[in-house]
Amino acid sequence: MTSPDSLDPSDWQDLRAQGHRMLDDMLDYLEHIRERPVWQPIPQDVRNLFQQNLPQKPSDLAAVHKSFMQDVLPYTVGNAHPGFMGWVHGGGTPVGMLAEMLAAGLNANLGGRDQMPVEVEQQVVQWVRELFSFPESASGLFVTGTSMANLIGVLVARTAALGTGVRHEGLAASDKQLTAYTSAGAHGCIAQAMDLSGLGIDALRVIPMNDQYQMDIAALERSIAADRNAGFSPFFIAGTAGTVDVGAIDNLTALADIAHREGLWFHVDGAYGALGILAPDIAPRLKGIGRADSIALDFHKWGQVPYDAGFILVRDGHLHYDTFASPAAYLRRETRGLAAGSPWPCDFGPDLSRGFRALKTWFTIKVYGAEKLGQMISNTCTLAQYMKQRIETSPELELLAPVSLNIVCFRYRSEDADRVNANIVVALQESGIAAPSTTTIDGHLAIRAAIVNHRTCSDDIDALINATIAFGQVHAKPMQD
Ligand SMILES: *Cc1c(COP(=O)(O)O)cnc(C)c1O
Repeated sequence: MTSPDSLDPSDWQDLRAQGHRMLDDMLDYLEHIRERPVWQPIPQDVRNLFQQNLPQKPSDLAAVHKSFMQDVLPYTVGNAHPGFMGWVHGGGTPVGMLAEMLAAGLNANLGGRDQMPVEVEQQVVQWVRELFSFPESASGLFVTGTSMANLIGVLVARTAALGTGVRHEGLAASDKQLTAYTSAGAHGCIAQAMDLSGLGIDALRVIPMNDQYQMDIAALERSIAADRNAGFSPFFIAGTAGTVDVGAIDNLTALADIAHREGLWFHVDGAYGALGILAPDIAPRLKGIGRADSIALDFHKWGQVPYDAGFILVRDGHLHYDTFASPAAYLRRETRGLAAGSPWPCDFGPDLSRGFRALKTWFTIKVYGAEKLGQMISNTCTLAQYMKQRIETSPELELLAPVSLNIVCFRYRSEDADRVNANIVVALQESGIAAPSTTTIDGHLAIRAAIVNHRTCSDDIDALINATIAFGQVHAKPMQD
């Protein structure tokens, strides 16, 4: 019997055929992605198609799919494309896509309860522990992204500093004024975490960088000492493994030493760089990361898992639990039956209902293997060195920052360079040839290419460099009249 109000199809055969067409379309898209422009502007009439009133009546699945193919698929950011080098975006894989379909089919809610999907998540947690040599007692949790993971890191550190009482009494009940430390190269979500946790953005000390764009260790020590003298309570250091601007890795060993000596929580924002641990040539540069109290990372960047797949690892699993776990009658735990298996993932973060992010990550790691993923990560850094070399041998171009990992900041040499280079980047994006983004390095606008995508190869680097020079010649021309 089926309910007359069920949303399942009346003709499964028909749905099956349509489903296969949809799957084929996406596999075709990925197989032939190189033939497409990286990005293209959205025509106004296409935008307008998405301003309709709430549909009261049904539509054919095939017709809705056609609309997706025509009006959505061609106008994405383009991060699946090998020519995409903007911001720090992962490329995704067909394996991850297929796993997402399986996860959606199960419709598992990973808040908790006794189910294998939670065991899959725990398997990935175990692998992450192993990668960073964390103890068995360390806890881990999938979250949306590193923005959320950093917030969780700050909140657990807040519990460490003030005790669990802060959860009831709030910060106002404490006579301590907590202060935190990060570098000027840190991602903005560290400040946001201070804001959201109630500690306040002003309690975050922004430490200057050295000439390698790492946190200046001596300046950090001075800042901690000055705060202690002024009566503040330093509690948290956030190092970065792979800064978003230039890909710098803070001296994590020195930060771990200071945190240990001063009794501070040591958090690493390893959003994209932490997975460099998979690459034998990059792992040594992350030395000290295994001494962190917590690590935030994204599988959706260098790990190539489809969005979203952020992750937080916490050394002290009990403290992590104590920061979030709350009793609730409807979430009662048992030793047998569906309500067994406590603690549950919902005890380690603010989300109760959670999707099965672990599945696409588990598939990605199982199918490709850690070695292959490490090789791919290493290759993006090799390509960055190749790009650096192309820049250094092109008299029209200049490098603006050291190339530490996979991010290259450069510009076209010209008068009025900021304007010219901003125009070049827009021209590159609109041409569909390549999609770098921009940042500001020492007050100068830089063309920023982050090579994250596993599909990118040296031809894509050549295409970006050649097109940059060609557009530079056009845009640097003196204005007529
Ligand atoms: C991308 C990034 C973030 C933010 O991560 P989301 O997954 O986008 O929330 C934080 N820090 C660094 C260094 C990043 O590269």
